[in-house]
Amino acid sequence: MRQIDHFIVGESPSPARKHQVWNPSTGEVQAEVGLGDAALLEQAVKTAKNVQPEWAATNPQRRARVMFRFKQLLEENMQELAELLASEHGKVVEDAKGDVQRGLEVIEFACGIPEALKGEYTQGAGPGIDVYSMRQPLGIGAGITPFNFPAMIPMWMFGMAIAAGNAFILKPSERDPSVPVRLAELFVEAGAPEGLLQVVHGDKEMVDAILDHPDIAGVSFVGSSDIAHYVYERGVAAGKRVQAMGGAKNHGIIMPDADLDQAVGDLMGAAFGSAGERCMALPVVVPVGEDTAERLKEKLIPAINALRVGVSTDPDAHYGPVVTPEHKANIERWISTAEEEGGEIVINGRGFSLQGHEKGFFVGPTLIDRVTPQMKSYQEEIFGPVLQIVRAKDFDEAVRLPSDHQYGNGVAIFTRNGHAAREFASRVNVGMVGVNVPIPVPVSYHSFGGWKRSGFGDTDQYGMEGLRFWTKVKKVTQRWPDGGGDGSNAFVIPTMG
Ligand code: NAD
Repeated sequence: MRQIDHFIVGESPSPARKHQVWNPSTGEVQAEVGLGDAALLEQAVKTAKNVQPEWAATNPQRRARVMFRFKQLLEENMQELAELLASEHGKVVEDAKGDVQRGLEVIEFACGIPEALKGEYTQGAGPGIDVYSMRQPLGIGAGITPFNFPAMIPMWMFGMAIAAGNAFILKPSERDPSVPVRLAELFVEAGAPEGLLQVVHGDKEMVDAILDHPDIAGVSFVGSSDIAHYVYERGVAAGKRVQAMGGAKNHGIIMPDADLDQAVGDLMGAAFGSAGERCMALPVVVPVGEDTAERLKEKLIPAINALRVGVSTDPDAHYGPVVTPEHKANIERWISTAEEEGGEIVINGRGFSLQGHEKGFFVGPTLIDRVTPQMKSYQEEIFGPVLQIVRAKDFDEAVRLPSDHQYGNGVAIFTRNGHAAREFASRVNVGMVGVNVPIPVPVSYHSFGGWKRSGFGDTDQYGMEGLRFWTKVKKVTQRWPDGGGDGSNAFVIPTMG
């Protein structure tokens, strides 16, 4: 059995507990990962404390050169990384390349760290007084990441944190832990000092150790909302800076004037791509008006029936298996719940079996109509290849549905009407909006983050927001003695008047 080790400096103690890593396409266990504990974290923190000061003192241009080389290595190893990722996650290999690529783009942004880190300066803020600011790293940062983007999300975090001068400890998902380790190996190959980026595997025990460790100054989390909230509260209570992104239930609004063929094409990828296991998937479609709903449904049915489910290495498959047998069972339970609640199962993906791969964790594409906001299956995240239709009577209701939902990650509107789109983008209570763009994940030089229960904390991931999260601002007010001052006003609060 292949063993997946921590990536730390020095010997890893043999783990007391292990977690099985599946190959979701075959339904077989392909590896085991050792779950670490507080003692292992202590070892990693000790190393991080040793290497971080020198890294922070390395000028940003030199730090950027490591990022440039790392980007090149990611490109050279793209195929290998994508295949490894697909074998543990289940997404198809081409989609796995996208997972690596979207992380790589954050590394590209991090290559510009000398420019991004420049501070502010005011000459003559008072008589002979200048004020300037500098961004300094927090020290040691940690990232706790979900299974669904095992390359992209770690890179969102460590790309920005390390470029800014921090050391970083990554605790990836125990369900697909190999790619994060491979990224850390490539980072050393790119010239990073050993111990600057370490990977510790584990579950709640390791997460708690991270949240409680006094030497870890900042924690970035991405995962489901209950755990995000827990991580946020516990980390903040321990005096850390924390950002914690949670789950999602993104809506796609279809206005009566939308280009329906384009919208249906977009919905196929956005609802079913990666088996719906994306926090920016579109699992809810909201046609506005009964006529739009009927026209949409008529086009959705053949498009969904044409989807090809396959193993992750099948180049013709639209999507692959889901991540674990428990998750498959969970998704199927949600479909049954929707049915019991009165949803109309138009296309049923339960009990799906792929010929030749009967043990794989496949779920067929599912379409459920007549879903209402009162239904539990609407309120909660399903995270599978399931598209729900919620019919809205008018534009106002279409704005209200995503705005009132507990999650506020992404939303999209499909329309040809610029005014409606503008109004929608301005009014909707959701963090990321697409206008005729189904998955509006902002590019790496903007930033990513949802609202409400999709994001706890006040900074986004990557871009300048990421840089703000991983640095603290020092403000310096300086005056050089000119021999003329007598300090006579020293007892009055200084003003520049
Ligand atoms: P998850 O919450 O199960 O796990 C996330 C991380 O938390 C993992 O590293 C896991 O080991 C750890 N963890 C699990 N249980 C824990 C516990 N009880 N206490 C402390 N830590 C624990 O999430 P997942 O299933 O890996 O990922 C899917 C979820 O992530 C979905 O809800 C999805 O919407 C969300 N997600 C959100 C975003 C976003 O940016 N908002 C992006 C990707 C995924």
